[in-house]
Amino acid sequence: MTQISRNPWTGELLAEIAFTEAFELEQILQKAQQAFKNWHKHFAIYERLEPIEALALLLRQQRETLARLITQEMGKRYIESLAEIDKCAWLCEVYARHSIDWLEPEVIATEARKSFVQPLPLGVILLVMPWNFPFWQVIRAAIPAIIAGNSVLLKHASNVPLCAQALFTLFQEAGFKEGLFNVVFVPGNQVEKLVRHPHIRGVSLTGSEPAGRSVAQVAAGYFKKVVLELGGSDPFIVLEDADLNLALDTAIQSRFANAGQSCIAAKRFIIDKYHYADFCEALTERIQQLKMGDPMDPETDIAPLARAQHCDELHEQVSETLNSGAQLCCGGSKWSEHDGCYQPTLLANAMPGMKAFDEETFGPVATITKASDIQHAISLANSSHFGLGSTVFTQDSTTAQTIAENLRTGCTYINGLMRSDPRLPFGGTGNSGVGREMGRLGLLEFTNLKTIIHS
Ligand code: NAP
Repeated sequence: MTQISRNPWTGELLAEIAFTEAFELEQILQKAQQAFKNWHKHFAIYERLEPIEALALLLRQQRETLARLITQEMGKRYIESLAEIDKCAWLCEVYARHSIDWLEPEVIATEARKSFVQPLPLGVILLVMPWNFPFWQVIRAAIPAIIAGNSVLLKHASNVPLCAQALFTLFQEAGFKEGLFNVVFVPGNQVEKLVRHPHIRGVSLTGSEPAGRSVAQVAAGYFKKVVLELGGSDPFIVLEDADLNLALDTAIQSRFANAGQSCIAAKRFIIDKYHYADFCEALTERIQQLKMGDPMDPETDIAPLARAQHCDELHEQVSETLNSGAQLCCGGSKWSEHDGCYQPTLLANAMPGMKAFDEETFGPVATITKASDIQHAISLANSSHFGLGSTVFTQDSTTAQTIAENLRTGCTYINGLMRSDPRLPFGGTGNSGVGREMGRLGLLEFTNLKTIIHS
């Protein structure tokens, strides 16, 4: 059995990689367990940061080669692949700078001589990762786990095995001890077995709801810690007093970056009734200017989707939403010149109960809905079982703060592009997942927060 790597734009077969045999898996897990024991016992935190700094440097030095690989393997625009590699280096630099402080034991005054909470590592952490940001997703999960003293085992998405191999090589070149960063090639339906393995002490999964549910169920049976970063259908609210140009620019950037394949893309535009018609028209005009094409061409705005079957799934969501009464402003079908590209699409008058409103659309498709007032906007935004990110455009910071507090999401951006930042915790509520990545909270997720009392 093999994993196939194919260029989504050219169709070229890039590689065929054999799945890891059961006996090799066991050997890798033993090595990972040994590496964990050695790493947290014999290396102080400042020593653990040395390979992280080396990794940041390598990422910066090899950015063009690595970016080209991302584009070839999953089809995103080359310029976006470069930005992805730069962001990975930035995350390493942020953690290299802050981890000593962030892992400092928290002293709590009691009548004891000394009492404090000390974060200690858990063991081998399984990382189950998606293809949409094939370097960024891995780096943001692996680096904090390793700094905290754990070792990691990566099971990457089946369509990006070359990125997985490149990551393995990078970690080796950066000087990580053998067994700290491991890669296995197994199909998604074999992940359960890995979760059950006694050496696996925690699981971080970024991916779809079904994958998250399956991992959570198995992990719960063994009381293993999970961090789940799942799907999203982020609302983007524009109020009467908003800066409309800024909102329009941000809307385009948010929804159509990475050909719409982002968990934190704005997917549901909720516009105050005074601006609804104008916003709809202006957004349609801007969307129609987006150019589809070759991801290596700097003129391209929308590259192919990572897997051709995603176009069919997206089209079904669009068709069913139109059948239930939404209006097509633009797009609405595959691009006639390339089967793997979906036309950037806007669906107006979208309401709860319609597919593209209720489900995550993982491609260049947006919905737009009219809100009669602020309460209605909040209620529409919260009419989703997801709760990842949200965006609000208003000039009134008090109103913005109130709305932010009332939106059931893990993060709200006010007057700006919803994006992740390695200095800040990131994660969702509801069906968008549990736990946090990045920032200090992300560093503490795969630790035993141990209370120690010297009486
Ligand atoms: P996916 O199909 O769930 O795959 C993600 C990973 O899970 C892959 O490694 C996949 O392996 C594995 N997997 C699949 N089925 C599994 C199962 N039953 N049990 C355990 N693991 C399983 O998701 P995707 O299509 O690659 O990624 C898109 C999804 O990821 C979207 O929903 C997106 O919103 C979400 N995402 C969330 C975030 C966030 O931070 N919240 C960030 C990025 C993406 P195979 O490839 O071998 O099937």
